[in-house]
Amino acid sequence: MKFDHIIIRYGEISTKKRNRKSFVDKLKNHIRWALRDFKAAKLQASRERMYIMLNGEDHQKIIDQIKGVYGIQSLSPALKIGRDIEEIKAAALHYVDQLSGEIETFKVSTKRSDKDFPYDTNEMNHLLGGHLLRNKDGILKVDVKKPDLDLRVEIRKEAVYLSGENIHGAGGLPFGSSGKAMLMLSGGIDSPVAGFLSMKRGLEIECIHFYSPPFTSERSKQKVMDLAEKLALVNGSMKVHIVPFTEIQVLIQKQIPENYTMTSTRRLMLRIADAIREREEALAIITGESLGQVASQTMNSMFAINEVISTPVLRPLIAMDKLEIIELAKQYDTFEISNQPYEDCCTVFTPASPKTKPKLEKVQYYESFVDFDKLIEEAVEKTEIRKLHFGEKATGEESIEDLF
Ligand code: ATP
Ligand code: MG
Repeated sequence: MKFDHIIIRYGEISTKKRNRKSFVDKLKNHIRWALRDFKAAKLQASRERMYIMLNGEDHQKIIDQIKGVYGIQSLSPALKIGRDIEEIKAAALHYVDQLSGEIETFKVSTKRSDKDFPYDTNEMNHLLGGHLLRNKDGILKVDVKKPDLDLRVEIRKEAVYLSGENIHGAGGLPFGSSGKAMLMLSGGIDSPVAGFLSMKRGLEIECIHFYSPPFTSERSKQKVMDLAEKLALVNGSMKVHIVPFTEIQVLIQKQIPENYTMTSTRRLMLRIADAIREREEALAIITGESLGQVASQTMNSMFAINEVISTPVLRPLIAMDKLEIIELAKQYDTFEISNQPYEDCCTVFTPASPKTKPKLEKVQYYESFVDFDKLIEEAVEKTEIRKLHFGEKATGEESIEDLF
């Protein structure tokens, strides 16, 4: 069977009324970008669906390329035909003929968005089902509950589409439709997963990484860049803000009682991240925290740490167990990179017994003897910005941002 189209069905976007056009436009841009290597393929968008005209391109390769795009609920390779009933019957038969040997049972599911079409959905199901049974007597049977083939017939004003396979898309909302947020990206397992989940809900992200040379190596920075590159597969490109954090960490070790250094370190990271967020005009900070996972992620710790900013902090992993997070990291293909043994700035300075129930008044009191403001400003100023263009090395192609 030579398919000539791919049908793309939207997920939740279809429930958005007023913003629908902008949602669809964003999805369209993202898909167009994902299709950049398939020059002959053309994309057509309507309010309810998108169609890719394959023009000879391989449907399987295109589906593999776009099924990870957020905002797509499902995809089907399809055949576009005219609206004449005899033509539809012939195409349906041709379709099942191609599958001979692979299927024993089928059903026909018609959808009709054009109510002027002379047959309603029931009549169509019977007409086509009967036609197939007559021509495949003894070979095919109808099974409405669990058929091997669910032959979908979509009757639209401009044409009729026949499709059999319904492939799950990535779901979620189109890239950028929820605005922009800053992901605090460590070299660990959790934060990249938090990044993917946020992008799934339509966020565009930039990464912030704190590093502390010479306590952390160039190699650990590279590990973070490798993770950012994975995230850029969705983002299209990725801005990574690398914050020099050594001076502040050393000062914290000197000035803050040992069991509060971790709490204080997190508070300062958050203040710096928020200053960068403001400069980049983003609306939230994302972390890979999961409740109770380590000392800094108890409720008491989060209460004492979060106090320094009023910006929303999104924690997509808050209710997940480590094993669930690892499963996702494998799915997103970041697990192996995260698992490399390079040190992180926080692990290097982690005290032997960090407070799991830090008191806000105490950390405020300890910090009151130190002037961190100037150091924060300096750290923001000296932050190195690296931009990863996905695919740049391979093709020199435009980045997705050019399309928005
Ligand atoms: P991860 O696996 O993401 O490193 P973790 O379980 O090791 O998380 P922590 O080290 O306590 O937990 O970090 C909690 C969160 O704080 C991380 O998920 C990340 O969002 C942020 N974070 C920690 N270290 C850094 C860093 N060096 N640079 C940027 N963000 C960081
Ligand atoms: Mg970590």
